[in-house]
Amino acid sequence: MENQKAVKMSYIVNTVLLTFVLGLAGFFYLCKAESLVVFSIPTICVYLINYLFIKLKKLNLFVWLTYFWITLYMSYTTVALGFDMGFHLYSLSLILVLFCTDYMAYKLSGGATRAVLISCGIALIYMCSTAVAVWNGPIYKTPKIYSNIMLVLNAGVVFTFIIIYAKILINMIIKSESELTRIAHYDKLTNLYNRHFMMDALKEESELEGSWIALLDIDDFKNINDTYGHNAGDYVLVHLAEMLKSVCEKCTVSRWGGEEFLVLCKDKSVESSIMEKLRSEICKEPFSFEGTDIKVSMTIGVSVYDNGRSADKWIQSADQKLYAGKNSGKNVVVY
Ligand code: GH3
Ligand code: MG
Ligand code: MG
Repeated sequence: MENQKAVKMSYIVNTVLLTFVLGLAGFFYLCKAESLVVFSIPTICVYLINYLFIKLKKLNLFVWLTYFWITLYMSYTTVALGFDMGFHLYSLSLILVLFCTDYMAYKLSGGATRAVLISCGIALIYMCSTAVAVWNGPIYKTPKIYSNIMLVLNAGVVFTFIIIYAKILINMIIKSESELTRIAHYDKLTNLYNRHFMMDALKEESELEGSWIALLDIDDFKNINDTYGHNAGDYVLVHLAEMLKSVCEKCTVSRWGGEEFLVLCKDKSVESSIMEKLRSEICKEPFSFEGTDIKVSMTIGVSVYDNGRSADKWIQSADQKLYAGKNSGKNVVVY
C-alpha cells in the first residue's frame, strides 16, 4: 500500500517537473539562450526515462537521477541567465525534499540514503554556480522585466515545494508516531489496553479514592485450547474482551496476560457488583465457534483501593482473591 502511494506520488512529481521543464524551454527560447534550449532536450529525455523507472518500480533510480539533474540544471541556468532569476533557490528546496525522501525510503525499505552528504554536495555546487554567476555576470543578457518576473515565479514555486514537502514530512511523522503509540498501548488480539499501559495508568493515576480493580482469569482455558483448538481459544478471548468492554463502558479494561484481564473502575457510580453480573452472563453465553458452543467461565478477584497503597500491592491483593476463588472451585467472584 505504502509502495503504491510512493509510485503514485513519483508519477505526479515527475509530470510536474516535466511540465515545468517544457515551460522553461519556451522561456529560454524567448531569452535567446541557445545552449539552454539545447540543454532542455536531454533534460526532457531524463524525465521521459523517469517514467520508465517509475513503471519498473525503480524508485531509487528515479529519485537520484532527478536530484542529480535538478542540481545540474539549476546550476547551469544560474550561470547562463544570472543570479537575479532565482533559479538557485531550487537547490535550497531540494534539501528538504531530500530529507523527506530519506525518511520515505527508511519507511519503505528500512534503508536510509545519505541525505546529509548529498545536501553538502548540493550546497557546494550551489555556492560555486552562484559565485560564477555573480562574478562573471550572466552569459545571456535578458531584459530586466524577464528576471523580475522569473524571480517572483521561482520564489513562488520554491515556497510551494517547501510548504508541501514540510507538510508531507510532518504528516508522515505524526501518522507513524500515532501508529507506534497504538502498538505500544494495545493488545493486538483483543484490541484492549495491554499490561504496560495499564500498569502505567495505575501508577500515574491520582485520586483513586473509591476505585476498584478486578483481576479476571478464564477457568480451565488450557482445556478449551486442547479441546477446540487454539483458534477457538483466540475467539473466546476476543469475545470476552467485547463483553468486558460492554459491561462497563466507564472502566479501563486491559488484557493483563495470556487469559487474564484487569479492569480498573474509577467511576463511583459503577459498583463492583457488575463483576458478578458479568460472571453469570459469561456462564450463559454460548461462545459459538464454527458451529460449536463452548462453555466458558471466569474466576474474578476484586479489590477496592486502600489509601496510600502502591499499584503493585493493590494488584497483589486482587490476585490473592483470584487465587482464593480458583482454590474454592472456580467460577466465582471474590470480594
Ligand atoms: P485455571 O483455571 O487454573 O486458570 O487453568 P487454565 O487452564 O486457565 O490456566 P493455565 O495457566 O494452565 O493455562 C492458560 C492457557 O492459556 C495456556 C496458554 O496456552 C493459553 N493462552 C495464553 N495466551 C493465549 C492466547 O493468546 N491464545 C490462546 N488460544 N491461548 C492462550
Ligand atoms: Mg492464568
Ligand atoms: Mg485460567
